[in-house]
Amino acid sequence: MVPEVSRLAYTSRSAFRRVLAPFSMPRQKAPDNPAGRLSLISRHLAPVYPINTPYTVERIPDTIDTSLLPKNQTRTLSTTTIKMSQPPHATLLIPGPIEFDDAVLQSMSHFSESHVSPSFVATFGETLSMLRKLFQSTDSSAQPFVLSGSGTLGWDLVASNLVEAGEDVLVLGTGYFSDGFADCLRVYGANVTELKAPVGTKPTLAEVEKALSEKKYKAITVTHVDTSTGVLSELKDLSALVHKVSPDTLIIVDGVCSVACEEIDFDAWGLDGVVTASQKAIGCPAGLSISFFSGRAMKAVENRKTPPASYFASMKNWTPIMKNYEAKKPSYFATPSPQLVHALHTALSQILAKPVTERFAGHKAASDKIKKAISDLGLKQIAAKPDEQAHGMTAIYLPENVKGADLLPILAKKGVVFAGGIHKEIAIKYIRFGHMGVSVLDPNRGDVDKAINALKEGLAELGYKA
Ligand SMILES: *Cc1c(COP(=O)(O)O)cnc(C)c1O
Repeated sequence: MVPEVSRLAYTSRSAFRRVLAPFSMPRQKAPDNPAGRLSLISRHLAPVYPINTPYTVERIPDTIDTSLLPKNQTRTLSTTTIKMSQPPHATLLIPGPIEFDDAVLQSMSHFSESHVSPSFVATFGETLSMLRKLFQSTDSSAQPFVLSGSGTLGWDLVASNLVEAGEDVLVLGTGYFSDGFADCLRVYGANVTELKAPVGTKPTLAEVEKALSEKKYKAITVTHVDTSTGVLSELKDLSALVHKVSPDTLIIVDGVCSVACEEIDFDAWGLDGVVTASQKAIGCPAGLSISFFSGRAMKAVENRKTPPASYFASMKNWTPIMKNYEAKKPSYFATPSPQLVHALHTALSQILAKPVTERFAGHKAASDKIKKAISDLGLKQIAAKPDEQAHGMTAIYLPENVKGADLLPILAKKGVVFAGGIHKEIAIKYIRFGHMGVSVLDPNRGDVDKAINALKEGLAELGYKA
């Protein structure tokens, strides 16, 4: 079928269209048509328009103003030196992908290398060892994983390896991302109980204690920062509570929007798993699922009564590979992306050049400044309580008469890209400002001031007075 299509494609355009016709789908209004939904979601590829999700009530128009799209990047490549400077572009301040450092991007221009060559194996091995430091872990029974995939693959890892069909899992419900984790767990047969908090809050310790006393859970999952609301969950006391009232329950953290911007003290807090992705606070292009599991979690995988419920995401398949890489021994289960691993190596080297606690403090300082500016503008956050507010992003309620669909393109014209809302209950009522990585830690960039000013001006242009 495929060769047939491409042969015809070269023969004539109308023949190509005729062949493809049966596959093209009529565009329909979301949310109940999957193909229509996909086309709406993929519109976030145009950076100036707010994202549509299956839950967004208000639809963004189809036309895209191409004058707002970034111009092509220019770069010079030779066999010996690579110079690359990022062309001027609107500053990407969404909760991932974030702005990337030049050196991180440059390391992706590495020449092609065998994934089992000594040089690449050394790079991968060092990358895994650096992850231990990022998680502040010295426990040799803990295991890092770096797999090709996005943050979502971390959910599959947990659901298909740590939990067996029919086992109970308690999911702390904070929004869009905890809903997704719960869905993923169900796909693999877990019996999920969701303890849902009202929008903009998290379940209390007392509620968690009560839930844990009612059933024996194989695992509890918590979304450290729920990127749909900007709610920060506290991990240390939560983990202590679980260890006290349900000591066999594995404590699993979705840290996709928290690793490398919020403090995580993996061993000291007694966590069993943290899953994350490359493109958020770690500041490496998207494409890597990064996770870290305790010795106890690794035992749970080993002691499964049934085989892991996935093949590519099987921790049994990947564990020896990760151990070999870290021991600088070539190994193969499925081809990693050498270029992305080089970028991650560079990003982690930069992160670990200073104590990680300094990095967390830097994010907190920037976040405090942003939150103050937001409240000085008379705006409210989705996460109302200061101790429940994330430090790498802020979800901001729009004023009564301002629409995200109007404000976001104005901000883009001013060179700042924010994200629209994705929580199904409030999607069109708010916007999201991501403030992670170089945008907050590199004082020369001025990204935060630029964003705050753009927001002030943009709101004023839409008639809002603080
Ligand atoms: C972004 C995000 C995810 C999903 O990660 P992808 O890389 O988009 O697959 C999951 N959980 C949280 C908390 C996130 O912020």
